[in-house]
Order: sequence, then C-alpha cells, then structure tokens
Amino acid sequence: MMIKVGTIYTPPKSKHRLLWVERIFSQHRGKVKYIQLVMLGLFLLLLIGPLFAKTPQFHDTIFTSGILFSQFLFWGIWYSGCLFSVIFLGRFWCGVLCPLGALSEWCGKLGLKRPLPKWMKWNGWLVIMFTIVTILGQTMDVRDDPAGMARLFVYIFALAIIIGFLYGQNNGRPWCRYFCPIGKILGIVSRLGMIDFRANKGVLVLPKSKALYVQGRLCPTDYNLPYKGSTNNCIACGACVHGKKQGGMGMYLRKPGEEVLDILNRMPNWSEVLFIILSPGLSAGGFLWLILHQYQQYRASIGGWLLNQNVLWVFNRAPTWIASQRWNQHYSWLDIGMITTYMLSYAVIFGGLFVILTSLAALCLKTPTGTFKNRFLLLTYQYTPIAILSIVIGLSGKFFDVLHHDFGVSQHIGIIVKCSLLGLSMVWTLYLIVRVLQKYPEKKLPLKCLTLGIIFITIGVILYLWWPAISGYKYMSEVEQIRQHLIIPGN
Ligand code: SF4
Ligand code: SF4
Repeated sequence: MMIKVGTIYTPPKSKHRLLWVERIFSQHRGKVKYIQLVMLGLFLLLLIGPLFAKTPQFHDTIFTSGILFSQFLFWGIWYSGCLFSVIFLGRFWCGVLCPLGALSEWCGKLGLKRPLPKWMKWNGWLVIMFTIVTILGQTMDVRDDPAGMARLFVYIFALAIIIGFLYGQNNGRPWCRYFCPIGKILGIVSRLGMIDFRANKGVLVLPKSKALYVQGRLCPTDYNLPYKGSTNNCIACGACVHGKKQGGMGMYLRKPGEEVLDILNRMPNWSEVLFIILSPGLSAGGFLWLILHQYQQYRASIGGWLLNQNVLWVFNRAPTWIASQRWNQHYSWLDIGMITTYMLSYAVIFGGLFVILTSLAALCLKTPTGTFKNRFLLLTYQYTPIAILSIVIGLSGKFFDVLHHDFGVSQHIGIIVKCSLLGLSMVWTLYLIVRVLQKYPEKKLPLKCLTLGIIFITIGVILYLWWPAISGYKYMSEVEQIRQHLIIPGN
C-alpha cells in the first residue's frame, strides 16, 4: 500500500468497521469522566495508602500487606496489562480509563489555553522522558519503595497538570501528545495493534500547505483528522466517531502489524526509531544492575578508587527526591551515578550493536531507487514486538514473584511463560522481516538469506541480553533473592 501524490489513501472496508463500538462511544461519551474520576480515586488510594502501611515481613502476601498489594497491581498487572491490551483494544487505557490524561485535560478547561511553543512539539521528548523515568524508577526503587513510587508519580502528575493548565485547549491533551512516557510507549505499540481510527472515505494525502497536527480542534492529540494516517498519537478517545449517521472518522479493525509494514507511508519518526534501538538495552540494564555480581564488582572498584582519591562526598546519601532511602537501603551519590551509568552503557552498547547489524541488513537490501535511510527505518520498526516485550519481561518479574511466593506456583512456570512470550515476539519480528523481504522481489535468494541471518544475530543478541532477566533468580545474589521474596533468609 503506497500513497501516491494526489490520490486518496485506502478507503477502509466497511465490514471491518466497528460501528457498535462507535455507537457506545457516541452515546456514552459524557459518562467517561465518571469512570476517569473513579480511576483517579483508585490510583490515589493505591499510591497514598501504602505510605501508611506497615513494612511487609517475609511471610506477608498481597492479601496481608497493602504495600505488596499495591506493588503487585502497579507493576505486576497494570503496566504490562496496558502494553498488551493495546494490541487488541487500541489505547483504550488512554482514551477511557487513564486518570492522568483526564486530569491534564480537566486542568486545560480551567487554564490559560496558550498555543504550544515550538520547542514543546519536538518529537525527541519521547526518548528523553522514557530514559529519565526509567532511570529514576531504579534510583527511587519504585517497584519496592512506596515512597519512591509516590514521589515519581507526583512529578509526573505535576508536569501533566502544569502542561494541561498552560496549553490545554478545547479538550486538548498536549501532555499525552508530546510528553507522557507511558503514552509514547503505548503509541509505538498501537502501530502494531488491530484498532485504527481512520477517515471513512480514505485518508487524504497531506498537501504541503497543511499541517498534520493542529492544536485546539476536535482531536485531543491535535490530529488534522482527514489526513490522519498513523495511530501512534491517537489515544482512542472516540471523540471523532459518530456512529452511522455522521460520516468523518470510523473505528476499524485491521491486521496486527499492518502499520509497521507500511511505516514509510505512516509518518515514521526518528524518536520512535531511537526508542526501539535504545529501550531493550536501557530496560535490561535497569534489571541487570540489581542481580548481576558484575555490577557490585564495578561499584566496589570505582568506590575504592574514589576513596583513594579522597572524593568522599560521593558516599553521602543522595536526596530523597532522586533516591530511595528505605529502612533497609540507602542510595548514595555513588549509587545514583553507578546505576545511571550502568543503564546508559547498556543502552548505548547494545543500541550501537543494533545499529551496526541493522545497517548491514539495510545494505544487503540496497536498490537503485530506495535510500539507505528508508531501508534502515523500515527494518528497525519491525523490531517493535521484541522491544516492547523486553520492557514487559523486565516489569513482569513482580507478577511471577507474587505467583511463586503467594500462590506457590513453580518458578519454572514463570520461566516457561517468559520464554514463550519472548519467543512469540521474536517469531512476530521475524515474520514482519520476511514480509519486508517480499517487498524486494529483485533481490536474489542468497542475499535475502544473508539479511535474514543478520536479523537472527540481532535477535540472538537480544536473547542473550535478556536471558538473566528470564531466569533471573539463578543469577541473583542471596540478598536480592531475599529482597524479592524468593528465598527465606538463612535457608
Ligand atoms: S498518554 Fe499518558 S497520560 Fe495520556 S492518557 Fe495515555 S497514559 Fe494517560
Ligand atoms: S483520532 Fe483523535 S479524536 Fe479520534 S480517537 Fe484518536 S485521539 Fe480521539
């Protein structure tokens, strides 16, 4: 499916239209705010309640400890569930349930309604926000320290409220469109997903005189709707669909992965490419520093060297606004620096390897007309299933720990499920790559096999990177296994 200038892009088939969902949207849109209010209450309860709960003991479970219950809901169910749900439901979480986006939108109604400055529309905020939040998530130990989790969410809520108050116009959500780190990841996943809000008569080709995004119209994320050809910035709010009577936009089912295969026509952007390149390494680094002895050795050597140099301030406790200071753990400036450097190193080293291998694959597909940049971009987007699954595996640790500790489910079952999920994402990526190779019929079979071989190596590197996370407890120090409730102290 290629857009040609002056033509109209693919009118969707009406049999794929989800009219019944559109009707629900148009008839009940006014009630969504009540759902969002309830969600806001629940969110605050889960965030604030654990601050007043007793520190859990080893025998506590999610049924006897408010802290463990809240951590399980946030990190075991909510985040991974959100990512998975996007494949089948689109960004239902964003459009209907999310209290953060709703709060930002409500603040816009009371606010200054200013036009967005140009610097805020920069696409690169995706990578910056994701990197900052992922690193802070580690240094503030959001998975285990209720105070750290509450602080991080206070920062995120405060930013969402301020941006909404200053720049929200006509139900607009500039926070969701440009800054929300969760929404941006969901946006990339939605490119793989089965739900698309699209113009009923086909998407018009964007003329040079028009902008793809216009602030303050019907769409809260500013899509210029007749030209909307991508889903990454669509929060699935349903505001643009009106049931059968009025035309305009409709909600359609499509094949999973369809958009990434046609990414060159679907407004790709470099910040998403950078995210796909960096996120597996960054997320793996955020998990591996906790469990690998290698990190402790680096920390001891660098700490020893700094001690010899008389640089003593690094051993002071870091402030609580960036570091966890729990009863049993105190992060120093050295810890903050080490964790940040370790995670960024993983992102850069693995990302560099990814770029080299994908560049080689793109060179193999060289054609007289296409550009290297487009081939690189096309191939990189096909790794979306693995990049996203990497994040899910990192986060799902909490889910499987609880299954093991509280429900007696064997750790091997956790490993099997994680392996299967990672395997599935790899098969999906390989399938997408094979579909990409079919777009190059002029390439000889050996060259295609060589490209596929390079892709296999890249996938192998990702597997190597994530293996300790999959079978993590085997690699964990005893202290970490006790912290994760995997073994009983002293046994
Ligand atoms: S983009 Fe972020 S804040 Fe907005 S609705 Fe989605 S998750 Fe919520
Ligand atoms: S295109 Fe805009 S208005 Fe339509 S569902 Fe998506 S975010 Fe909502």
